[in-house]
Amino acid sequence: MDLLVNVAQLLKEQAGATHTIDLDGPDLEIDGAGPAFVRGRIVLTRTDIGIWASGDVAISADATCSRCLVPVTSSLDVRVDDTFLPRVDLVTGAKIDPTLDPDADTASIDVYHVLDLTNTLREYRLAAMPLAPLCREECQGICPQCGTDRNQATCSCEPEPDPRWATLRELLT
Ligand SMILES: [Zn+2]
Ligand SMILES: [Zn+2]
Repeated sequence: MDLLVNVAQLLKEQAGATHTIDLDGPDLEIDGAGPAFVRGRIVLTRTDIGIWASGDVAISADATCSRCLVPVTSSLDVRVDDTFLPRVDLVTGAKIDPTLDPDADTASIDVYHVLDLTNTLREYRLAAMPLAPLCREECQGICPQCGTDRNQATCSCEPEPDPRWATLRELLT
């Protein structure tokens, strides 16, 4: 199981040829965000200029509820849609101008014809990661005044403003 795929064979084929990769569990470490697991299927399609990676994957990662701090597993569904360009021509060994296709992603296939999905999936994960993960939508959180977990007990502190407003404020800042 690897997020590194050797695509030398696919690059030799005609546009339209495909190679399917099944992902089931590779670690996707992100600095400061802990490990994550990737599951799903990505189809690599040979195009005129490179390789198009597409598919739906689920990325699950350990997180902490932003209200009550219990550990939760957040699962993110992401749609992969990226073009990878070779840096050298497989047959001639000549360098390929990476600016050939202005719409293509900056990701490239290295000179050993290895396509690395790690950074791509990391970016998808970062983009899809919730700013404030919750153990459940109606989590009551911890009382900021006395520390009581309000999912388990009620305390006699003054009621706080609706926690939904706090979440909204977080989103706005
Ligand atoms: Zn919670
Ligand atoms: Zn309290």
